[in-house]
Amino acid sequence: MKKPKPLICIGIICVLAAAGIIFLLPVFTGQATDENGLHAPGERLQSVYEIDWTLDPDGRTLTANQHVDYVNAETVPLTEVYFHLYPNYFATEESAPFEESEMKNAYPNGFSAGKIVFSRIEADGKPADCKIEGDSGGILNIRLAGPIEPGAHVSCEFEYEVTLPECVGRFGAGDDTIQLCNAYPIAAVYDDEGWNLDPYYAVGDPFYSDVSNYTVRITCPPEYTVTGSGQRSKLETGGGTTSHTFACPDVRDVAFVAGKGLRPVSAEAAGVRVTSWHYSDEAAGKAALRCACDAVEVFSDIFGRYPYPELNVIESDLYYGGMEYPNAVLITDRLYRQGARDTLEYVIVHEVAHQWWYGVVGSDQIDDPWLDEALTEFSTLLFYRERYGETRFRQVYEKRIGLSLTLFDYAVSEPKPVGLKTSEAGDNMWYTVVVYKQGARMFRDLHEKMGDDAFKSSLKAYYQNMYLGNAAPSDLYLALNGATGTDCSGFISAYLIGRPAP
Ligand SMILES: [Zn+2]
Repeated sequence: MKKPKPLICIGIICVLAAAGIIFLLPVFTGQATDENGLHAPGERLQSVYEIDWTLDPDGRTLTANQHVDYVNAETVPLTEVYFHLYPNYFATEESAPFEESEMKNAYPNGFSAGKIVFSRIEADGKPADCKIEGDSGGILNIRLAGPIEPGAHVSCEFEYEVTLPECVGRFGAGDDTIQLCNAYPIAAVYDDEGWNLDPYYAVGDPFYSDVSNYTVRITCPPEYTVTGSGQRSKLETGGGTTSHTFACPDVRDVAFVAGKGLRPVSAEAAGVRVTSWHYSDEAAGKAALRCACDAVEVFSDIFGRYPYPELNVIESDLYYGGMEYPNAVLITDRLYRQGARDTLEYVIVHEVAHQWWYGVVGSDQIDDPWLDEALTEFSTLLFYRERYGETRFRQVYEKRIGLSLTLFDYAVSEPKPVGLKTSEAGDNMWYTVVVYKQGARMFRDLHEKMGDDAFKSSLKAYYQNMYLGNAAPSDLYLALNGATGTDCSGFISAYLIGRPAP
């Protein structure tokens, strides 16, 4: 049966789902860590990025120097390395990572191109033997002069200019904010499948990366505020510009938002400095802060401590609900302007939950998107149970999940395989119903079957075991089985193929 088209434009996702709108129809080497559980540079077998960007908001360009010390954290020698060049997918209307029905929302002023153009690519101090590959030029391949052995590294230097599209998705400039997300060359993951070179799909959050140490300096006009990943370590002014330096240890990506009107309001939650950056409405900005602090407290308690000192919740020019990056969640300004506090809370809690499932515990978001997305959606529901009690939990489940699934079941009788791959999803509506909604039902049923204490202790173990790593489904099964003493993998597998036990 043909899958139904969305009745409304469903963006990515991380959240429309959450917004309930669619129910319309490396190797850790064990060294010492600081009090936050983070590592000093060089103490963990991971790559190091030093990025120096100059942002020209009027010209919509980022001029960049980037150094990457790529470390081979695998167990085999590597003769080449690959980087994703996500900006190149924005070069044409055909390759832009949006469904056709989303294009008008993503580009309210009409299509506008983005890209990345290199003026220098070096490996270990010499011009690199490299080529740009993929239908959309989305992959950079560097062939090394000699293999890098496990534990060894190669030093890459890039000079490039990024053109930012006029686009209100993850990457691009809107009227109020500029989103600098997936904006730089980031190393692809080498795992047991080899190099993961998936393109920038229009469906889901098609990203997969290893935890690395980053330092990012962003120079821009002084009237712009910049926030995002990491912790601001330096602020320099002079020559008519301001330079913001961010130290971002142990993160799997970095993303930033720049805007003239962003105002901060901050509070402490579970030892984390949480800041709500907003521009539309002061009261909504404060409400966003309360929601984020509540979520950090609840998730720190039930999953384990958030290891980073800061978390930023950023009102942004996004046409969909929200999007997660390390230490930063972007939330659409529509939710601040509409006074939709229930949905604002749901979306913020969902995105904050991703700090645990995606941020600290990573996974392959193309092959196993359920591993972060379904777990995050159910974690959002667990928040309501912890914070407000069983009755509210059931009400929110019914409103955000149960009703959607009931309505959808009337329209489509085919199985809903929670294990759907992003690359095979077809469209965002189907992906959302299957991975988010049916995935949340799966975890709801598992939670009931296991009992609250065993379910939460298994997720605590999963968080500790996979801390700053990339998890596979087997890692989750291991934790679940350890908590129950029984094998849960059959229960989950039945959902993953769309055949849950009645
Ligand atoms: Zn999400």
